[in-house]
Amino acid sequence: VSEVATMMDVPVNEVISACMSLGLMVNLNQRLDAETISLVASEFNYNVEFVSAEIQEAINEEEEDSPEDLIPRPPIVTVMGHVDHGKTSLLDYIRNTNVIAGEAGGITQHIGAYNVTLESGKHITFLDTPGHEAFTAMRARGAQVTDIAVIIIATDDNVMPQTKEAISHASAAGVPIVFALNKIDTQGADPERIKSELANMNYLVEDWGGKYQSQEISAKKGTGVDELLEKILLEAELLELKANPDKRASGTVIESSLDKGRGYVTTVLVESGTLHVGDIMLAGSYTGNVKAMFNERGTTIESVRPAEPVTMLGLNGAPTAGDKFNIMTSDKEARNIAHKREQLQREQSLRTQKHITLDEIGRRIAVGNFQELNIIVKGDVDGSIEALSDSLMKLSTEEIQLNVIHKAVGQISESDVMLATASEAIIIGFQVRPSLGARALAEKEEIDIRLYSIIYDAIEEVKQAMEGMLSPEI
Ligand code: GDP
Repeated sequence: VSEVATMMDVPVNEVISACMSLGLMVNLNQRLDAETISLVASEFNYNVEFVSAEIQEAINEEEEDSPEDLIPRPPIVTVMGHVDHGKTSLLDYIRNTNVIAGEAGGITQHIGAYNVTLESGKHITFLDTPGHEAFTAMRARGAQVTDIAVIIIATDDNVMPQTKEAISHASAAGVPIVFALNKIDTQGADPERIKSELANMNYLVEDWGGKYQSQEISAKKGTGVDELLEKILLEAELLELKANPDKRASGTVIESSLDKGRGYVTTVLVESGTLHVGDIMLAGSYTGNVKAMFNERGTTIESVRPAEPVTMLGLNGAPTAGDKFNIMTSDKEARNIAHKREQLQREQSLRTQKHITLDEIGRRIAVGNFQELNIIVKGDVDGSIEALSDSLMKLSTEEIQLNVIHKAVGQISESDVMLATASEAIIIGFQVRPSLGARALAEKEEIDIRLYSIIYDAIEEVKQAMEGMLSPEI
């Protein structure tokens, strides 16, 4: 309902009334069927063309897989942490020690993801993307490819701002976290201190009686890395990850670039089905036959199964990280859809994308079932951030749950705006301002950034917005 209103640029209330006059009691978040959308739109003198429905049909996202077709798949893991805490060392150590026999040889290129086979015969796929920004940028595009997040923390250092950000980003995505407490071989290593810092942030590790697995490691020497992998697998078991390998492949683009000699080089992660050389791929608004596929060791690969990454050649452009890919049965159809998507994208970039704003909360609540308000708090000193976050959370009522999904000292960054986009949040800055980049991104994504210099003002404004949103008693 709200999307239709946005597309036509009319108040949501009017769309709701139009539905009512058709005998439909709807709320803001309700899905409307194609016929209703057409009828409602005609009330406002709009004609409707269902472009993405056609696309959906052509892509033939098959109905649910039947349970007997689903087989276990490896977990997809992202390692995140503060710079210099050992992310690269850990990923390198894992890939160098878990080389499948016959596949030895140097890594020929960085491809953004790799799959390792452990001694037990189990597999894990690691995404090697540049930090939580990439993770959240993909999520803002609707792609959540990570099953488990490993947060790496150097035990000769503290839980740093970037670590906190990574934790918030993983939590906001609802991804289970395993902590890797690194550099235990160093002089100043103090893992207990890190655990206590985590506890202060309400992340209690298992040996402190909490639910988060943690493992002390040395990424440099390899100490504890096998145990870390076991803990990742344990976490994965709980998730019961499964996929159907026996159908046309679909998945997500991890990264893509133009290589002078080879054309567009794209790394994709297969999520279901099996990808073969020769398949007709549609990725974002690009198409092409899969000409060749490689792993990061440059080994040629003929087919790729669920949760496995691969680098492929053959697309006629570079799709964006987070774009979906599908395998089509006809070349013509693939090109057709790519073309339509391009058109859609052009139209959509003209149309504003409405995210939640403080002013809009009242309206949303009055008409629908808006139940959660996510807030990101940035400020100049820790004390005021804590005070502000606590007071904000206390504003929660039975109807509306207020969540502070991330809080930190420092100016409002692009990564904060991305998190707000991915999690439908508003950003509150206390005695801090957004960076230029953050301001530009917020404008583009229509993220509400509110700046305050008095705590009371911030609380009062959010409170008023929420009171405006209390649904009228019937
Ligand atoms: P990243 O920025 O998180 O990718 O960190 P790197 O993996 O590049 O590591 C930063 C520095 O810490 C490098 O000089 C590493 O050699 C060192 N380092 C990483 N892990 C360990 C460890 O377990 N023990 C010791 N002593 N040094 C480490």
